[in-house]
Amino acid sequence: MPAYKKTARQEQLGNTQIRIPARNGDITIGAGNCTIIAGPCSVESRDKYLEVAMLIKDMGVDILRGGAYKPRTSPYSFAGLEEEGLKILAEARDLTGLPVVTEVMDPRELDKVTYYCDMIQIGSRNMQNFALLKEVGRAQKPVVLKRGLAATVEEWLLACEYILNAGNEKVILCERGIRTFEKMMRNTVDIAAVALVKELSHLPVLVDPSHGTGIRSLVAPVSRAAIAAGADGLMIEVHQNPDQALSDGEQSLTPEMFSSLAKDIRKIEQLKVS
Ligand code: PEP
Ligand code: MN
Repeated sequence: MPAYKKTARQEQLGNTQIRIPARNGDITIGAGNCTIIAGPCSVESRDKYLEVAMLIKDMGVDILRGGAYKPRTSPYSFAGLEEEGLKILAEARDLTGLPVVTEVMDPRELDKVTYYCDMIQIGSRNMQNFALLKEVGRAQKPVVLKRGLAATVEEWLLACEYILNAGNEKVILCERGIRTFEKMMRNTVDIAAVALVKELSHLPVLVDPSHGTGIRSLVAPVSRAAIAAGADGLMIEVHQNPDQALSDGEQSLTPEMFSSLAKDIRKIEQLKVS
């Protein structure tokens, strides 16, 4: 038995399916379908967030994303609207009927995040923040655990184990690219890790081609590759005006680009489930 006991495939028969209740119909992740999480990197303002949510809500998105607490490399960059951002996410959920996911960076903010949102994200930079992992392990909401920017697959699965071991079995793993010697892309998307983690674990695996590549034109081809490799879903950044985005504009799709990608993904999904 591997050290990541509860995360390991040997732990149970079949794949874990994670259900997220929603007014428009519950979302199930890991049932052989492709779950699409989409939205801007950050919640920038109420008007902008509700506008983009309304633009994409009928384009094939299952779950809306948006950061209210942003981990930024520079302390001078826009770091999110914090609780105001969470309230905007909750308003978008009420408006669209879609569930919302957002990142939590600090255990002190966890209660607020779980109060307003349907799913919690642990970002790459916090993959080994063990105090935070244990705390989300005590939460009731599903958790998206992103792979650390320099984490091995085993370290990622052991980080996941912290959450399961603390009592929360609703974890979705997310490959978001790792740091390599390659400099032309923001990160190197480890597609093989998707297939590997599907072998090693019973939990669902997503791919984030936006942070994985950092380049808008690469998001669609890498999304298709992710699904072909067995991913259970995608996390994609979309902005109504990417050039004006306060974070990650260069990797954000326009709603039109997202619509065409989501249509392709739904076609590939049919091949996968049939
Ligand atoms: C994000 O999803 O906005 C984000 C910051 O992702 P990561 O933690 O993968 O960099
Ligand atoms: Mn981002």
